[in-house]
Amino acid sequence: MVPRLYVTADLAAGQHLSLDERAAHYLRNVLRRAVGDPVQVFNGRDGEYAATISKCDKRLVELTLDSQQRLQDSGPDIWLCFAPLKKDAVDFLVEKATELGVAAFRPVFTQNTAASRLNLDRLTANTIEAAEQCERLTLPKVAEPVSLDQCLSSWDNNRHILLCAEAGDALPMADALHRFTGTPSKPNSWAILCGPEGGFARTELDRLTKLPFVTPVGLGPRILRADTAALAALSIFQAVIGDGKLRPPQSIRPSR
Ligand code: SAH
Repeated sequence: MVPRLYVTADLAAGQHLSLDERAAHYLRNVLRRAVGDPVQVFNGRDGEYAATISKCDKRLVELTLDSQQRLQDSGPDIWLCFAPLKKDAVDFLVEKATELGVAAFRPVFTQNTAASRLNLDRLTANTIEAAEQCERLTLPKVAEPVSLDQCLSSWDNNRHILLCAEAGDALPMADALHRFTGTPSKPNSWAILCGPEGGFARTELDRLTKLPFVTPVGLGPRILRADTAALAALSIFQAVIGDGKLRPPQSIRPSR
C-alpha cells in the first residue's frame, strides 16, 4: 500500500518537504519505509500529490513532491454539534463522522451532558488519521467546546440546524430534508445537533424548536445512543442532500 499523509506545508511539484515527528515516525518506524518509496500527501488546500521519500534517517524524513493527483474539493458544508461523550464513544464518533464527511466538529455542553472535559488534541489526531485513511482532501475543524447558550448566541442564522429530537413530533429526517430540496430557501450551510446520553432537557428542546433556523428531525422509533444518532443523522443527510450520491473512485487506488 502507498501511505497517505496529512501535512501542513504548501504543496507544489518538485518541492521538498520535511515531515513532522508524527508522520516521520509513522513512515520510518511503523511502516519501515525507505528512500525511493512512494507516498501520497494532502494538506486540505492544494489537492493531493504523489511524493517519493528522498531522505530517511533518525533525524529527518523528507519527501520530494511529484505530480498533483487530485484537485482540491471542499465537500458538503455540514457541521456536527454534539454533546461531549465518554472517551471511547467520542473517539469512535469523531473517527466515523470524519469518514462520513463532516466539515467541522462543534462540542456543545447541554444540561444533561455527563462528560465534563474533552481532549481536543486527541480529537484532532483522530480526525487526521481518519482523513488519511478515507482519502478525504480536507481535514474537519475541531472547535473549542461551548455551552448551548454560547453556541446559540453566536450562531450564524444562515447555517441551518437539524436538531435530532428524541421526543416530540419531529418529521423523519429524510422527509424533513426533502422539503428543502428544490426550494429557493434551501440553505447551503448545515449543522446536525445531537444531544447527550442523558437526552435534551424539555426546556432545551422547546427553546431550540422555536428558533427559525432550527428544524427538529426524528431518526425512527428507537432511542439511539448519542454516537449512533449522530452517525445515522449524518448518513441520512449525505444520502439526501450531501455527497452520498457521488460515486466511489473509479478504480481501486494502490493505497487500499
Ligand atoms: N436518555 C434519553 C435519550 C438520549 S439519546 C432518553 O431516554 O430520552 C441521545 C441523543 O440522540 C438524543 O438527545 C437525540 O439528540 C439523539 N436521538 C436518539 N434517538 C433519536 C431518535 N429516534 N430520533 C432523533 N434523535 C434521536
